[in-house]
Amino acid sequence: MRFLTADYLYTLVNEPIKNGVLQVDDSGKVINTYSNFLDVPSNKIDCYQGILCPGFINAHCHLELSHLQGSRDQVKGFLDFLSIIKDRDNFSKHKIISAIEESEKQMIKNGIVGVGDICNTLDTLPQKLTGKMQYYNFIEVFEVDANKSAEAISSALVIRDKFRSNDLQATISPHAPYSVPPSLMKAISDVSDNLDFVFSIHNQETKHEDILFEHKEGEFYKWLCFLNASSEIWKKRSSSADIIQELNTEKNILFVHNTYSEKLDSIDQYYCTCPNANLFIEQKLPDYSIFNSDYLCVGTDGLASNNSLSIINELAQIQKHSDYSLEVLLKIACRNGAIALGFNDLGTFEIGKRPGINLISNYSLGLESASVTKII
Ligand SMILES: [Zn+2]
Repeated sequence: MRFLTADYLYTLVNEPIKNGVLQVDDSGKVINTYSNFLDVPSNKIDCYQGILCPGFINAHCHLELSHLQGSRDQVKGFLDFLSIIKDRDNFSKHKIISAIEESEKQMIKNGIVGVGDICNTLDTLPQKLTGKMQYYNFIEVFEVDANKSAEAISSALVIRDKFRSNDLQATISPHAPYSVPPSLMKAISDVSDNLDFVFSIHNQETKHEDILFEHKEGEFYKWLCFLNASSEIWKKRSSSADIIQELNTEKNILFVHNTYSEKLDSIDQYYCTCPNANLFIEQKLPDYSIFNSDYLCVGTDGLASNNSLSIINELAQIQKHSDYSLEVLLKIACRNGAIALGFNDLGTFEIGKRPGINLISNYSLGLESASVTKII
């Protein structure tokens, strides 16, 4: 049994508790929280300087692209970024696998306990089988030719079922509104079953996406024509909001990036922001005033578009460009991602959960100079 206290205890279900005490068992399971030292049934309390909060949830990552870190110092927009991704297979399996292993280590060190991870391959499966972190695996479909929908779905099913047969959660999800024709969106919906909890989709990451749907022209239009894409992608849609109807699902959809969103497509869906990746690719951040902070999550994206897999680094950017309080920022980092991804054991200090424990130090001048230590 352990008792821990710090300047503040952020349970993320109640108000922050000044000098609050957290009681956990040896496995990290929350036994109780105390606002008064006199109620604590022990004299042996571990005291820390800073904030205690639950482990972080990285709601959007591409672990399998970790080997692409540092491919380029800077990119000129999204289409330029895609040229990095196109090179993903030009590396040895050893390099790909060891980058995955290192990235997971980095996430654990940075206090991350759960990840929403995009998978196009089975490359991350061996690492995930070690069971060091909790993952929700989004098996991503990217196919602009409607004639190849059946092929795309059957490849995705092979990957999904391989994850599932190893007791890992996996859901086939569309890459983005511009890379999945409506007929393929329906096929994704058709293969969804009761093991799926949430879908993920990249949304309004670039201005080209809006120009494509609104005006049927622009860089994406040219690029998609070059790829022989089916015109139903842009002809049948007027905006990315149509995706909600096309997926025709009761389940949640996690909309990722939303860099160019001016309003939310839906008020009761979860949104994920990846600020450092947005700055790397588009040199632009979302307008944080449009979000309901109870439904906002945060992700690092992959190392192809970020220098680190650190939630505190992402929060520091959000803090600089929003008026969210520290408590709201921590809800975005812990609680909301856990709810969005169905990680019922994570996200808050509530009795019975095993959410991990992070200590945040040096936060008073802003999260940019803060550091995170994983306690459990
Ligand atoms: Zn992504």
